[in-house]
Amino acid sequence: MKENNGLNIILMGPPAAGKGTQSELIIEHYHIPHISTGDMFRAAISEKTPLGLKASEYINAGLLVPDEVTIGLVEERLGKEDCKEGFLLDGFPRTVPQAEALDSMLAKSGRQISAVIHMVADDEVLINRITSRRVCPNCGASYNVVTKKPQVENVCDACHHELIQRKDDTREAFQVRLDAYRAQTLPIAEHYGKQGLVSEVNALQSIDAVFSDVEKILDEVNG
Ligand code: AMP
Repeated sequence: MKENNGLNIILMGPPAAGKGTQSELIIEHYHIPHISTGDMFRAAISEKTPLGLKASEYINAGLLVPDEVTIGLVEERLGKEDCKEGFLLDGFPRTVPQAEALDSMLAKSGRQISAVIHMVADDEVLINRITSRRVCPNCGASYNVVTKKPQVENVCDACHHELIQRKDDTREAFQVRLDAYRAQTLPIAEHYGKQGLVSEVNALQSIDAVFSDVEKILDEVNG
C-alpha cells in the first residue's frame, strides 16, 4: 500500500449478501466513512431532488442508474475531507467503466484502492434472504425478520421509525438485480483481481464470522 494512501476499501457482493451489515461493522471498527451509492440515491429520492427523480425510475425497475450520473456523485463525495484517511465503498463500482473511472479519480489525488472484499453466496439463499429484509427509511439501518430482528417488531432499533420493505426487494426486481450483478458487476472482481487486490469471503456464515474474516484481511492491508 502507498504511504498516506489511507484504507480505501471496496465491498462487493450480490444483493442481499450482507454488505450493509458488514459495512456498519467495518466503519465502526476502522473509523472510515461509509459511501453507499444506494443510500445516496435513496436520500435523493426522499428529498425529491432532480437526481432522485432521475434515479428512482431505474431503481424501482431494478436497473442500474447510468454510469455518468453515478460516477459524478461518487467523485464529489470522495473529494470531501472525511475521505482523506480512507473510505468504504459499498455498491460502487458496479460496472467496469465505474471501476476504471474510480481508479483514475483516485490516481488524480495520489490514492489507490487498498483492498476489495468480495462477499460470495449462492443465488437460492440470497432470494430467500431478500424477501425477509426490512429497512429503516429514516436512518437506513437494515434488518432481517429471520436472522437480524429488530428489538420491537417492525420498529428501527436506532431511530424508532417504522420499518419498510424496499420496492426493489420483490422476487421479480431481485432477479433482475441479480442478473445485472452477474453480467455487469462480477467482472470488477477480475479487474481488481489482476491487481492482486481481491479477497473472497464466504457470506453464508454468521455475521460475526464474516466480520472476523473481513477483519483479518483489512488488518493485513492496514499494516
Ligand atoms: P443498493 O442499495 O446498493 O442495492 O442499490 C439500490 C439501487 O440503486 C440499485 O439496484 C441501482 O438501481 C442503484 N445503484 C446503487 N449503486 C449503483 C451504482 N454504483 N451504479 C448504478 N446504479 C446503482
